[in-house]
Amino acid sequence: MPSPLITITEAQQRVIERVRRLESERVRVEDGLDRVLAEDLVAAEDVPPFASSAMDGYAVLAGAAGRLLTVVGESRAGAPSPRSLGEGEAIRISTGACVPAGATAVIAQENVQQRDGQIETGAAVGAGENVRHAGEDLRAASTVLRSGTRLGAWELGAAVAAGAAELVVTRRPRVAVLCTGDELRAPGEPLGPGEIHNSNAPMLVALSERCGGLAGSAGRLADDRSATEAGLSDALERADLVVVSGGVSVGPHDHVKPALARLGVQELFWGVALQPGKPTWFGVRDRTLVFGLPGNPVSAVVTFTLFVAPALAALQGAVPERGLELEAELGVGVARNPRREQALRVRLERGDGRPVATPNGPQGSHVITSLLGAHALAMIPPGTGELRAGTVVRLEELLD
Ligand code: AMP
Ligand code: MG
Repeated sequence: MPSPLITITEAQQRVIERVRRLESERVRVEDGLDRVLAEDLVAAEDVPPFASSAMDGYAVLAGAAGRLLTVVGESRAGAPSPRSLGEGEAIRISTGACVPAGATAVIAQENVQQRDGQIETGAAVGAGENVRHAGEDLRAASTVLRSGTRLGAWELGAAVAAGAAELVVTRRPRVAVLCTGDELRAPGEPLGPGEIHNSNAPMLVALSERCGGLAGSAGRLADDRSATEAGLSDALERADLVVVSGGVSVGPHDHVKPALARLGVQELFWGVALQPGKPTWFGVRDRTLVFGLPGNPVSAVVTFTLFVAPALAALQGAVPERGLELEAELGVGVARNPRREQALRVRLERGDGRPVATPNGPQGSHVITSLLGAHALAMIPPGTGELRAGTVVRLEELLD
């Protein structure tokens, strides 16, 4: 292990420096969920496109209560009245229907008395009352969504309202997930002596997909030099980002590093001052990013969260959504690690001020259940002695 270990921030910078945004493509809006916009989206038209009624009622001229008006037509949603409105007249109107030419207000249904083709206004109505103006929400040619925005439900809604049928988004990064280990068995396979199930595979694939990657299914590599090299070589050919778990330490059966060196992947770091996750490795070959994550399931998840997730976001050109600075108070004292920052899986409860974070069960890097029901990672800075209960710590979002 190289010495000294680099900090998490330094490691994240080395990753981000090497990421180039991928090319863009056009997708239909209905396929846009979770994609990242690669161009600003501009409104094609005013939204709403015309002055419309906010109520079911009657389009009228603004005026006093007690007027008797003749109903001369109807404007329904999608079927505007062909008539314009004159003095002494009213046009029946539904919510969302076009306000007829000549009308200056809408009086709500409940404020009129209707009889024999006429209405009597039971309340005064001011100019513009109950009218939604054209362009009130969005002006034609204004920017609706910025490049780098991750598209969620309401971004898709706003895009359609603004007239878009297709969106220009960054293509999804191709991710190759490889799990090394002679001990690994497929889901449900009976275990022989010394064998375990490959729990990293579904987690790393799921996390990759959550972050917008196209991961397919994970490959498995035996702890054998030539198999490792062959598997990694294939992954480097087809992926934008390779995630390989296990085999990245210094044991006699850890073949990932020499195989990557042989394949021309340039090492940019190996060893982060992080617990769990110390032996994390990162390198590049041309534009392909390669992450060697430690094999223990929690270490793999933590290092994916801290290093791979930001890389996948940056490959898509996503602007980091750092809305709220997340902090919590420790609910219990935590022993510090002298050299490494710790990422504790914590549960959060409402406190008097900040949320209170308590470790979610035993924190060993093999304890996969410490992830179940965890709300976040609480970051414990390195140091000596105990970090006392009540100390404010930074939280990292835990993807799932
Ligand atoms: P390694 O990083 O290869 O030394 O593995 C460290 C620990 O993680 C060992 O106990 C491995 O058995 C375990 N491990 C490695 N890969 C996986 C995996 N894909 N799923 C679950 N555990 C794993
Ligand atoms: Mg191993």
